[in-house]
Amino acid sequence: MATSKRVCSFCGRPEKDVPMLLTGLTGYICSDCAKAAFQIVEQELKPKSKGKGKDFDLKLSEVPKPHDIKAYLDQYVIGQDDAKRYLAVSVYNHYKRLAQKTSDDGVEIEKSNIIMVGPTGTGKTLLARTIARLLKVPFTIVDATVFTEAGYVGEDVESILSRLLQVADWDVKATERGIVFVDEIDKIARKSDNPSITRDVSGEGVQQGLLKLLEGSIVNVPPKGGRKHPDQEYTQVDTHNILFICGGAFDGIEKKIAQRMNTHVVGFNSVQNTRHIDKQNLMKYIVPQDLKSFGLIPEIIGRLPVLTYLNPLDRETLHRILLEPKNSLVKQQVKLFAMDGIELEFTPEVIDYIVDKAVEYKLGARGLRSIMETLMMQLQFDAPSTKKRGEKLVITKEYAQSQLENSLLQESNEVA
Ligand code: ADP
Repeated sequence: MATSKRVCSFCGRPEKDVPMLLTGLTGYICSDCAKAAFQIVEQELKPKSKGKGKDFDLKLSEVPKPHDIKAYLDQYVIGQDDAKRYLAVSVYNHYKRLAQKTSDDGVEIEKSNIIMVGPTGTGKTLLARTIARLLKVPFTIVDATVFTEAGYVGEDVESILSRLLQVADWDVKATERGIVFVDEIDKIARKSDNPSITRDVSGEGVQQGLLKLLEGSIVNVPPKGGRKHPDQEYTQVDTHNILFICGGAFDGIEKKIAQRMNTHVVGFNSVQNTRHIDKQNLMKYIVPQDLKSFGLIPEIIGRLPVLTYLNPLDRETLHRILLEPKNSLVKQQVKLFAMDGIELEFTPEVIDYIVDKAVEYKLGARGLRSIMETLMMQLQFDAPSTKKRGEKLVITKEYAQSQLENSLLQESNEVA
């Protein structure tokens, strides 16, 4: 057969018009058709692979112990020891609950969903993401702000389960043992001081929806992208064993804590009177009652029995965040330059300066990243062309000042 006659048996294009043509026993297939065929096969086989998807099987002996979980978190998240311990224990207990044999002795370990309260940018999502890497169960992060009561514009709470199903490759059994991190749960607090008579569709309505999932019930989850035909089947998911970890900044909750503590202090409770109160960090005295004052319904609070808090980040912690985590901002920059053969070094003064600026701009740990990007931008642009391999580059405070003080970051801070 002459080469020019060879055509793809699927799309009919001749060999000269396709990137590559593969020869079979009685025909040919071009690389484009092979790719398309691969995608179709992948998509078609996925939903049917129930129980054969990712390996979510677990034995308790193979599961990391609370100390191991905390040690792992320590590599990426600085401080927040209390929150780490609570998370480690809850996740380990989650595994235990999954491993328990129901008929053993009539003692059934109940699940303990967690709520983490702490200012924005202190590491709640980072903790959740880090722990996810270690887990042997499906895990997903959802943002509570996208939810509205069923029937209103926005997502129904049940969509949490669609996401978990997706992570579990549509393996219902694995999904039913998964963990969900619900971020910004404070944003669905009841808007109690709102005198409007309009319905609170993104507040209490959503809490009621979420409560159903937290309590444990069998939920009908529509197929991906909603139910398009009446005969399209729902997937039934039992949420009894799904662990929920919630996080929120609860802005202003310190006032409620202070109010509560004040009323105690002036009362007869002498223990409260004599105890030293750390006024800089009232968050650590948080109790479920404060969440109720903030606008979470008591039923939800009852289903989130483990309450922990995150500390605000002080200068020393910001300093450590720049340098210590396994993928700290400094380590990332050093790696970026090393890939061009350039040895990058930051002087201790420049590290202090970056922390100063993050504190000054009131941007917390999130600010460290934008400051680092701003001050390294010009060098990242120039160095690959102007520096030779093996050269050393030292970032000094003077250089950082020159870069930052002409930047938009500085201007926006001055305007603010
Ligand atoms: P939150 O969810 O509490 O609002 P994030 O976890 O999203 O905050 O934190 C924002 C960023 O700040 C993270 O991606 C991380 O780079 C950094 N960060 C915050 N807290 C810490 C911490 N304790 N240790 C290390 N990095 C942190």
